[in-house]
Amino acid sequence: MKCVQIRVRGQVQGVGFRPFVWTLANELNLAGHVLNDPQGVLVYAAGEQAAVLAERIKTEAPPLSQVTAVEVSPASVETLPFPFEITASQGQGSQTRITPDAATCSDCLSELRDPDDRRFGYAFANCTNCGPRFTIIKSMPYDRAKTTMARFELCDVCAAEYANPADRRFHAQPVACTICGPDIWLEGGSDDDPIEAAIEMLRAGKILAVKGLGGFHLVCDASNSKTLMTLRQRKRRPSKPFALMGTLSMIRSQSNVSKPEAKLLTDPAAPIVLLESKTHSLPNEIAPGQNTLGWMVPYTPLHHLLMDGFGGPLVMTSGNLSGEPQVIANEEARQKLSPFVDGFLMHNRDIARRLDDSVERAHPPMVLRRARGRVPTTLLLPPGFEGVPQVVAYGGQMKGAICLVKDGSALLGHHLGDLNDALTLQAFEQADRDYTELFEHQPTVAACDLHPEFAATRHAFAKGLQVEQVQHHHAHLAACLGENLWPMNGGRVAGIVLDGLGLGPDGTVWGGEVLLCDYASFERRAWLKPAPLPGGDGAQKEPWRNALVRLDDAGLEDWADELFANQPRDLLRQAVRAGINAPLSSSAGRLFDAVAACIGICPDTQSYEGEAAMQLEALAAAAPPEEAAYGYPITFDGTLLDPSPMWPLILYDLEKDLPREVIALRFHAALATAFARAAQMLVDQGGAEAVALSGGCFQNALLQDLMVQVLGDVPLLIHRKTPANDGGLALGQALVAAAKQVETS
Ligand code: ZN
Ligand code: ZN
Ligand code: FE
Repeated sequence: MKCVQIRVRGQVQGVGFRPFVWTLANELNLAGHVLNDPQGVLVYAAGEQAAVLAERIKTEAPPLSQVTAVEVSPASVETLPFPFEITASQGQGSQTRITPDAATCSDCLSELRDPDDRRFGYAFANCTNCGPRFTIIKSMPYDRAKTTMARFELCDVCAAEYANPADRRFHAQPVACTICGPDIWLEGGSDDDPIEAAIEMLRAGKILAVKGLGGFHLVCDASNSKTLMTLRQRKRRPSKPFALMGTLSMIRSQSNVSKPEAKLLTDPAAPIVLLESKTHSLPNEIAPGQNTLGWMVPYTPLHHLLMDGFGGPLVMTSGNLSGEPQVIANEEARQKLSPFVDGFLMHNRDIARRLDDSVERAHPPMVLRRARGRVPTTLLLPPGFEGVPQVVAYGGQMKGAICLVKDGSALLGHHLGDLNDALTLQAFEQADRDYTELFEHQPTVAACDLHPEFAATRHAFAKGLQVEQVQHHHAHLAACLGENLWPMNGGRVAGIVLDGLGLGPDGTVWGGEVLLCDYASFERRAWLKPAPLPGGDGAQKEPWRNALVRLDDAGLEDWADELFANQPRDLLRQAVRAGINAPLSSSAGRLFDAVAACIGICPDTQSYEGEAAMQLEALAAAAPPEEAAYGYPITFDGTLLDPSPMWPLILYDLEKDLPREVIALRFHAALATAFARAAQMLVDQGGAEAVALSGGCFQNALLQDLMVQVLGDVPLLIHRKTPANDGGLALGQALVAAAKQVETS
C-alpha cells in the first residue's frame, strides 16, 4: 500500500486544520493520522487516493489558515491506524502558533439570526473559523484554561461540539453558548433586553460605551450631527476623524466600493478601510476636512446584533482618555468613560490584551495601523536572513511597536501608541514580556532608535543585551526592503524617506532624504535644505512656525508678517537667530505643515498628528489631475533639495485666486518630482539597483501615486503589508541589527 508523508507549513495551528485533514482523509477512505508539531501540521496517509489528499489540502484549506508549503514525500511506516485519526501534538513548541482574532464567519452569523438555533441572538457565538484569539489569550500554550474563557465551564452540548472532529467547533477554545458562556448587560438604561435597549438609546441620540474585542468603543448614530458634536465636545476632540461601522450594503450606499476594497472590508481581519467619500450623505462632523472615511464591517456577533437592530451606520471610535490607550476593563471603563457616555453595553468576557482596530487602504494597498486581526501573524524574511541571531527591536516613540526576529521570520507586534503616555509605556513593557513568551524568544541583540530620549531606546539599554542603535530613516527603508523580500545581498537601493522627525547621526533632525543603502549601511546622498524647527518638537503642533522660517529663508518676511499677524513672530525669529531650541531639520512633514499654513489649513495649531498634511492631501486630491504637470520648482544641486523658489509662486497663485486645491496638488507634484529625480540619478549612475519609498508621508496615497508615476519603470519597492510610518520602524531596526550581526561574524 502506498504511504505518503505530507508536511504542511504556515499558519496551520488553531485554525481547524487537523479536523479538516481528518474529514478529507475519511472521505477518501485513507488510513493514517494527522498531528501538530513545531513545524506545522504533519500527515501520514496510506491508500489509493493519498495523492488526492495532498492536492485537496492545498486547494481547500480552512479559511483562517495560511499555507506556505505542502511537501509530499514517500514514507515507510509499518502500520497506520484505520480509520484515520487525529493524534496528540509532538515536540516542544508545537502549540505556540497563535492566530489573529477573526471576524464572525458566515456559518456563525446564520446561527445568530436563526430563531431555531441554540445560539440565536447570542453575542459570543464563535467557531474554529472565527472569533476571539489573541485578545483572550493570557499565556501559552493556547488552550481554554489559559484564556479569559477559563471561568466559563462548558455545558454538555458545547463540550460535545468541542470534542467532535466532525463539528465546526472541534477544539475551538472560545466556544460558548447562552447556557455556559459570557453575558451582556446594559448600564445606564433598561436592562430587560440589553441589545434592544442599547439600540433604543442610540436611536435617541445617546452615546454608548460598547465593550468589543480588543477594547471599548464609543458608539453613536453616525447620521446625527448633534450627537456627533456632543461626542466631539465631551471628548475634546475637535476634528480627528471618527471611524464608522456599517454593513457592506450600508457602506456601498455611502461610497463607491471597488472589488479590492470590498475584499479588504470583508477579510477575517475586518480592518478599518479608508474609502473615498465623495458621494456620502453623512454629516461633515465625522471627518472634517478629509476626503476619505474610515469604514469597518461588524466583526463580532455583538456588533452584528447592534447593526441588525439599528439599521444604519454607527460611529465606533476608540474609548479612551485623550492620549491614553483604549480602555479594556469594565471598572476602568466606568471610571474613565463616564464623562463621555450615557450608558455602557458591558460583558463579562475579559480582554486579555488591548488591540486597536487596524487601519488600511486598498488603493494603493497600504497598512496605516497594524493591530487587531493582523497580529500576531509573522512575516517571512528575505533570502540571507535564514540563520540570523534572534533580535528584538523596540521601534520609535509616537507609534510604538515591537518586532521579534527568529528562525527566518519576523513578528511585528501591534500598534501601541504614543510612548510619552505613562499607560501606553506600561502596555509597551507588557507587550515586550508577552511577545517574548509567545514567540519563545531568546534575543541576543536589542535594536532601537538613535534618539537617546525615546522611552523605547531607554528600554533597549535596560535589557542587558548587546544594543544596536539604528538611524530612524535607515530603519524605515530597511522595513520597506524587508517586506519586499529584498535579499540581504541584493545590493544597494536609493531610498526616498519623507517623514516627520528622526534624529540623524550629525545631531540634526532628518526627515526628507535620499539614502543610498542596504540593510547593514547607508550614506545620506541628498536631502531637503534644512530649516530651523522653532520650539523643537513643539514645532510640529503649530504649522505657522514652519511656514515662518521657510518664508523668511525665501526672503518673503512681509508675507509671513501678513499671514501670521497674530502670532509671536519676533520672539520666534529671535530664538531662531540665537539658535535657542531651534534645531535644523530636513523634515518633509514640516514642509507639508508650512505649505498648509500658507494656504490657511490649521495654521495656528493641529489638534492631532498629521492633521494639516492630511487636509492638504484631501485638497490636492480634489484638484484636476492635470495640474500635477505644473509642480512648483524645488532646485537640486546634487545634494540639497531647496524649496525656496517654490514660495513666491505659491504667493503668486494665491494672489491670482487659484483654487487652494490646485496649489496643494502643485506642491505634491513638486515634492514627488524633486525626490524622484534625485533618487533616479543614483540608479542611472549605477549606484542603486532600485528605488524604495518609506516614511510617514507615504501614508499619503496621492504623494505615493505621483512618485510612482514620475519613476516610471525604475524598479520600485513600496510598503503594502507593513506601515510606512513609525509603526513599521521596529521591523527595519531588527533587520538592520541582524544584517550587522552577519557582517561582523
Ligand atoms: Zn464561526
Ligand atoms: Zn454551552
Ligand atoms: Fe518616522
